[in-house]
Amino acid sequence: MKTKRYDVIVCGAGVAGAAAAVAAARRGAKTALVEKQCLLGGLATSGLIYIFLPLCDGYGHQVTSGLAEEMIRRCTEYGPFDVPAQWGGPAEGRSGVAVHPERFQCGFSPAGFSLTLDKMLEEAGADLWLDTVIIGANKTGDAVSSVTVFNTSGKIRLEAGCFVDATGGAYAVQMAGGRIHRAENRVTPWVMEMADDPSVFHFTGPLHVREAWENAAGGGLESSAGAAVYPDCSTGKSITGFVRRSWQLMRTRYDAFKNTDARRRNYPVHLPAMPQLRKIGCIDALKILRDEDRGKHFDDAVGRVGDWRRPAPVWEVPYGSLVPRDTENILAAGRCIGALDDAWEVCRVIPAAALTGEAAGIAASLCAEMNITPSKLDFTILQRLCSR
Ligand SMILES: Cc1cc2nc3c(=O)[nH]c(=O)nc-3n(C[C@H](O)[C@H](O)[C@H](O)COP(=O)(O)OP(=O)(O)OC[C@H]3O[C@@H](n4cnc5c(N)ncnc54)[C@H](O)[C@@H]3O)c2cc1C
Repeated sequence: MKTKRYDVIVCGAGVAGAAAAVAAARRGAKTALVEKQCLLGGLATSGLIYIFLPLCDGYGHQVTSGLAEEMIRRCTEYGPFDVPAQWGGPAEGRSGVAVHPERFQCGFSPAGFSLTLDKMLEEAGADLWLDTVIIGANKTGDAVSSVTVFNTSGKIRLEAGCFVDATGGAYAVQMAGGRIHRAENRVTPWVMEMADDPSVFHFTGPLHVREAWENAAGGGLESSAGAAVYPDCSTGKSITGFVRRSWQLMRTRYDAFKNTDARRRNYPVHLPAMPQLRKIGCIDALKILRDEDRGKHFDDAVGRVGDWRRPAPVWEVPYGSLVPRDTENILAAGRCIGALDDAWEVCRVIPAAALTGEAAGIAASLCAEMNITPSKLDFTILQRLCSR
């Protein structure tokens, strides 16, 4: 099999993977970012998510900086939205878009953000492998030493000094035999559409993103919090069922316009290209963040994230939450770091993905440079390089 060697290989080009690849490449590491789709940004873009949740604590203070801040400031380059002028409080100079103006967050065009991420990777000098699926993680002893990928050229072995799993579901760690924690999900698909009655998630004119949902009774709901629960999304079959249920819900909506003149103004523009699962799988980390860690200090913290739902104590993210307990030479980034329950809820969104991606990318580049595995890395060296 053809083999290529890098210093750092990042698996998955969602927000976390893009941040990891940019961070590693900026440190001079020969970096590859491998992505099965032909779009950057993962769920945030191909899942039509479109809201970069806040980098502040809800009381007017900045909490997260570094690449997360760079991304939020650049994600509006190709889109109609603006970043707030202040770290909290109603912002001036916005486009009249009501996306929680009380927090430092903003809307973005999913396609536009993908173009910006590509520019950031190009500027950093990372190699991008698109339309390339990772199908195996190979170990030498306990340590991951290569991943097997498949694309139109066939199977290729990619070796590296260190790896980052930013697949959103800890798939690379799982392929290496690592233990994964799972959680339940709710069907609350987002669709980009044209409509006579744009919801609050509007772009310009009638173009907007609508959230659909179901409850057990199949009726309408006021909020996605009450949406029907899918306890098991751990098999390909269950994910297919989850996605097809989303499509059924959307058909129910557009059936109302079928055979009427209203269909000319009310129609889907784009469906999510990824399953809209909030939580797929997270690693069994050296430190698993749990609810009691809210507001707690960690000596090995690589950064902080705010609670995106409400003004609340901030969460420090320990380096240990990026390091699998049972698999060497790979770090997790994004929504598959070690975090459970409410901690997972806080850490599964875009700001935390950018923060943990940056930290994992720097850590992986250090490990490759020093020829050590992440569990042996002196976290104080990493902390000096992270934007905390
Ligand atoms: C309905 C819904 C609404 C949400 N709303 C918001 C919101 O408003 N704001 C917000 O900040 N967050 C929101 N989120 C969460 C957020 O968008 C994601 O959790 C976050 O973007 C995850 O980023 P990530 O980089 O960790 O993972 P992902 O975005 O999942 O990226 C993983 C990438 O890895 C790739 N990949 C996976 N396996 C392989 C493989 N074997 N080979 C190659 N590539 C692979 C995938 O294609 C993907 O591009 C929402 C989530 C859902 C489901």
